[in-house]
Amino acid sequence: MRLTRRLTKHFLLMMLLAIGMAVAFSSHAQLLTKAETSLDIEYTNSEQKLSLDEVTLLDGDLWSELKTDRASFGYTTDEYWFRFQLKDSNIDRVLHIAYPLLDELNIYIQTDAGIKTYKLGDTKPFHERPIPTSEFAVPLPKGTSGTVYLSASSQSSMRLPIAVRSNIGFFETQMNRRIAEGIYFGVLLCMAVYNLFGFVASREPEFGLYSLYTVFFAGLMLSLEGLGFHYLWPESIYLQDKGIPIFGSLTFLTAALFAYQLLELKRYRNTLGRGLMVMAFLSAASLVVGIFASYRISIHVLLILAAPGCFFLLLVGAYLWRKGFLYARIFTLAWCSLLLSVVANSLGYLGVIDSMFIQRHAIMLGSGIEILLLSWVLAVRYNEQRKERLAAQKKYNQELEENVEERTFELQIALRELQDVNSELEQKNMEDPLTGLYNRRYFQQHLERELRRTLRRELPLALLMIDVDRFKPINDTHGHMVGDQILKQLANLMRQHAKRAADVVCRYGGEEFAIILPETDLDDARIFAEQLLSMVREHAFETDVGEQRISISAGVISTSNRIFDNVDELFKAADEALYTAKNQGRDQVAGQ
Ligand code: GH3
Ligand code: MG
Ligand code: MG
Repeated sequence: MRLTRRLTKHFLLMMLLAIGMAVAFSSHAQLLTKAETSLDIEYTNSEQKLSLDEVTLLDGDLWSELKTDRASFGYTTDEYWFRFQLKDSNIDRVLHIAYPLLDELNIYIQTDAGIKTYKLGDTKPFHERPIPTSEFAVPLPKGTSGTVYLSASSQSSMRLPIAVRSNIGFFETQMNRRIAEGIYFGVLLCMAVYNLFGFVASREPEFGLYSLYTVFFAGLMLSLEGLGFHYLWPESIYLQDKGIPIFGSLTFLTAALFAYQLLELKRYRNTLGRGLMVMAFLSAASLVVGIFASYRISIHVLLILAAPGCFFLLLVGAYLWRKGFLYARIFTLAWCSLLLSVVANSLGYLGVIDSMFIQRHAIMLGSGIEILLLSWVLAVRYNEQRKERLAAQKKYNQELEENVEERTFELQIALRELQDVNSELEQKNMEDPLTGLYNRRYFQQHLERELRRTLRRELPLALLMIDVDRFKPINDTHGHMVGDQILKQLANLMRQHAKRAADVVCRYGGEEFAIILPETDLDDARIFAEQLLSMVREHAFETDVGEQRISISAGVISTSNRIFDNVDELFKAADEALYTAKNQGRDQVAGQ
């Protein structure tokens, strides 16, 4: 919706420009008809070249009346002769043939004073022309009267718009024509330069191709209008001769490549793309022919290429338009504008449309609009593509962000799982597998920690070393399985008994255990140990071989009664107490 509105805005601008051009051209066209002397022209043609004497002797029947001053005979090798009576006039006049592509044009003005001959044509250097104009003109000073003969031959199409105008009328047509052409070629030049900058800035090939297309098209129009010969290559008869086929071929070549790029045929449709490539190839071939072959051959090759080429470009545009491809619409309109002008121009020359304006300026106007439309579509398309790219980039960034987030989340989960496994491992590392109590490694680390804390806070710490009495015989009698069953139940008893959260029960090794009791003095520790001993003594241990009874001995120490500098001392003291308990008969507590 927004795009359509913007397109409309652009379109209005383009139309304004085009209307400006049209006004400039039409004022010229009106002037063309002004100040003309009406002429009764007769013509004849022959395959052989005739001299003026031979022509003057020709039978009157061989001459035909020229119905219109727009004599147009197409491509012909014949020599055409024209004659008309020129009446006396008291002003200076100009005989004006407003067609620049005649190879040879001889003008004979037969007056009472004699015959004045002019040899013109674009096969002669420009400076030889009596009046410097891109068309052909010779002076008719006041008082000139008599019969005027013209002979013309050309490898281009044979047209001879003959007019006799007053000097002022002639120069006015010239001035207005130059202005119109100035606007036209100015627009082309602007488009070429503007799109060249576009190419330099964006590196998009279609800008470069379009710039070249505009330059070559301008070259073609300069050749067709005779302006190149007038202003750019006045001494180069070669370029004047070859300009049209060379620039024409280059125009078609760049048009095909440009359309290929612009309509993104690589992406959309292969057959059409291949068709355009074939067109480009044929244009290149036509260029070679244009350079080396004669004008007559090369202009025919170009014309054979031009008709289907233009039609194909139109077809490509129309096809993609129907497919809903936005830019194809403007592209098609552009080509329509050019083709319509070419058709209108041809109809004008054929006399179907009797309009001087169309005959003279249709192609300039049509191609001007075409060039503007194509430049417009390029700009709009580039802008749209830029927006698409930005949107894609934004989407990509968003996706990237989402991906990163997702990965981070996954990583966090993995990390957490790793932490879980790690803490499980740590747990296993400090656990005794048989009883589930803390193991000896943990006991040592923990005792060290507790001792330091005790020293800092000056709170007592108690340590119990416990050993099962006469355990070996149980194993020996009933086997290790039974021994293990007893050890497990004993571990549970001790765990139950050490109720405080800070109490830690460890299996020191074999049937020896250690209990760390923080903030416990010797008396409390003794009481704790006595209670444990009696619990064990009274407990019936369930085993595979029936109930078993055991007893344990305990060595108890506490920092409340003695100062210990390090863990070893502490442990040694507890072990000694246990040893004492054993020695004193077992099933008892010893401590200090
Ligand atoms: P006392 O301590 O009263 O002097 O006698 P004891 O028989 O307990 O003495 P000793 O230290 O010589 O024997 C310890 C026995 O404990 C040796 C072994 O058969 C047993 N034992 C050690 N660790 C385990 C164990 O993990 N499982 C089982 N079933 N028995 C064990
Ligand atoms: Mg032992
Ligand atoms: Mg023992």
